[in-house]
Amino acid sequence: MKNYNLNLIRKRHCYSIKEICSLLGVCKVTIKNWQQKGFLGIDERKTNKLFYGEILISFLRNLMQSRRVTLKVDEFYCLACHKAVNGTPKTYQKTQTGKNLGFYAKQVIISSKCEFCGNKLRKFSSTSCNEISRMKKKIKTTNEEIKGEQLVLPKFLSQDTIK
Ligand SMILES: [Zn+2]
Repeated sequence: MKNYNLNLIRKRHCYSIKEICSLLGVCKVTIKNWQQKGFLGIDERKTNKLFYGEILISFLRNLMQSRRVTLKVDEFYCLACHKAVNGTPKTYQKTQTGKNLGFYAKQVIISSKCEFCGNKLRKFSSTSCNEISRMKKKIKTTNEEIKGEQLVLPKFLSQDTIK
């Protein structure tokens, strides 16, 4: 996953594949992929293709937009499935990191397992976030059943599970 700095690209400039590579720090294969996704050159018949800066900008803007995933309250982003997923029932767990967020809220990690691939899911949240209260039902009913399965946190973080 990469975010490209579109400010580097000049709208009215024509770029060769080589120039795009060095400008954005990508390899030729990446640009091949873009071409398959609809990134068109000025003259598609030519083997030594040139690309308009303006088209490159709009193509990349769309590409980055489509990768941005909006998560619903009880969803996680699964790094294996590359998409928003739900957790598996009875695997939800809430762990305090020991870090304070502001005066009264504490940082927590909500974890679960991917409903599709079983991969570990986690996301940061806060005890003051309504995300927690809306997920409370799921978390509460499961906390007792998954004893022993604790998140591995860096040593400087405490591991108190919220009750
Ligand atoms: Zn998954």
